[in-house]
Amino acid sequence: EHNERNEHNEHNEHNERKEKFYSKLKFDDLDICDSLKKGLRDLNFTTLTEIQAKCIPHFLNGKDILGAAKTGSGKTLAFLVPSINILYNIKFLPKNGTGVLVISPTRELCIQIYNVCKDLCKYIPQTNGLIIGGMSKNEEKKKFMYGINVLIATPGRLVDHMQNTKEFIYQNLICLIIDEADRLLQIGFEEELNIILKKIPQKRQTALFSATQTTKIENLIRLSLKKPIFIEVTTNI
Ligand code: ADP
Ligand code: MG
Repeated sequence: EHNERNEHNEHNEHNERKEKFYSKLKFDDLDICDSLKKGLRDLNFTTLTEIQAKCIPHFLNGKDILGAAKTGSGKTLAFLVPSINILYNIKFLPKNGTGVLVISPTRELCIQIYNVCKDLCKYIPQTNGLIIGGMSKNEEKKKFMYGINVLIATPGRLVDHMQNTKEFIYQNLICLIIDEADRLLQIGFEEELNIILKKIPQKRQTALFSATQTTKIENLIRLSLKKPIFIEVTTNI
């Protein structure tokens, strides 16, 4: 049965690439600010992928999201666009500290997300930043002093700053994004994730993405999400 399913997907990939993996929704149709739309246009994004079309409206409506989707489906914009729009709407300021926290398992993945985030935030006043191992902690401290509204981080360095950098304000956090949850647990970040979840506000919105489901992920889901909407996408863009 499993093979049959794979063959079916391969068949679809050949014949319906564009029609199948893009939705009918355009970024311009979304209930998001013009500045974000302008940023998206500059990046040449016009049509939402399936995961983006399924996630963004729910996230904008305040729902928690549990997303299951393969690599390449477009998860980065699925979580960045709505979470950044929420900060923009409430006029979240640098002095309020971190409002959106994105946790991703590796430095490379964090850098990729950060690069998209930087471009996306080009026309909005909210700040963004990257906190990954390997940089001077003092330099990072200076960024926290100014305020990092949208923060992309690996778990290890993040916990370090939560425990040791008093300039890091995370008490006003509004959105938590856990990217590639399966890989985070595979690498062994369970303890760090538990520490982070204990320290950040309970009253917040959370989105968790994982390509696969395991028992450990179920624990993490239980600990981090409240009545999530389950979104599954089995195709790539
Ligand atoms: P994932 O995190 O699910 O693996 P990414 O967010 O990294 O996927 O996106 C994969 C690729 O698809 C990237 O090169 C990205 O620029 C591109 N992409 C994402 N969304 C769109 C879109 N709506 N239209 C066109 N390309 C997109
Ligand atoms: Mg990704």
